[in-house]
Amino acid sequence: MNGKNNRIRRKAELIYDTLMALYGPQKCCLEHNTPFQLLVATILSAQCTDKKVNSITPALFERWPDAKAFASCSQTELEDAIHVCGFFHAKAEHIRGAAKMLVDLYGGEVPQNMDALTKLPGVGRKTANVVLGDAFETPGLPVDTHVKRLTNLIGLADTDDPVRIEQFLCSILPPGKWAQFSHLLILHGRTRCPARRPDCAGCEISEFCDFMQKASSKTPQKMKTNAPKPRKKNNHE
Ligand code: SF4
Repeated sequence: MNGKNNRIRRKAELIYDTLMALYGPQKCCLEHNTPFQLLVATILSAQCTDKKVNSITPALFERWPDAKAFASCSQTELEDAIHVCGFFHAKAEHIRGAAKMLVDLYGGEVPQNMDALTKLPGVGRKTANVVLGDAFETPGLPVDTHVKRLTNLIGLADTDDPVRIEQFLCSILPPGKWAQFSHLLILHGRTRCPARRPDCAGCEISEFCDFMQKASSKTPQKMKTNAPKPRKKNNHE
C-alpha cells in the first residue's frame, strides 16, 4: 500500500472509530426470518424507506413465506401487495424471477456467494452484500447512495462507481469492519449529513472530511449548524 493509501486507510479507521463510538454497532433493520425473506425485503427497499418495507413484509411473508410460494404467485397479485414500496411492476418481476430461479437451481434456498446472487433478477452487489452480511455473516460492504455520497465528500473515494468504492474500501479496511462501516456511514448520512443540508459545523467527523476542510478554508463564517444532535438509533428509521 502506498503512502497516500496509508493516509486514507488511517482516515477510514479514525472515522470508523468515531462513528462506532457515537452510534454503536448497527444492524440491518429489514424484518425477515430467512435469507430469502431478507432478499425480498432488500429488493423492495430500493428507492423506498426500510420503515415502509417493514410495514408490509409481515403480511407479505405470511401470504408467501418462501421462494416456492413467490414463484407461483401472479404478477398482479404481487404488484398489489407491494404497491406502496414504489416501482412495484419491476420489483414484482424481479422477486418472482428470483424466486423461480432459486426454486429451479437451488431447491428454493439462497446461495451464499456473490456470483450466484448477482445472477438473480434485480440483485446487484449492494443487495447481495446485504444478504451475505446479514443473513450469512459473510463480510460484505454494501455501497448505497449514502455510502457513495459520504465517501466522496470525506475524501475516501473519488468516483461514482459503487463497485470501485466497495473494492477500495475493502482493500483498506479489515473484513470484520466492512459491514459496520457501511451501516455507520448510512446512519451518519441520514442523521448528520443529508444530501440537501449537511450539518458540517456539528459533524463529529468534520476534522477528517475533505469537503469541510475545503469549505471552511473558503467561507468559515457560513458554516452554521442547523440540524439537531444525532441520537443513538438504528440506521433504518
Ligand atoms: S463535515 Fe459535512 S460534508 Fe463532511 S461528513 Fe460531516 S456533514 Fe458531511
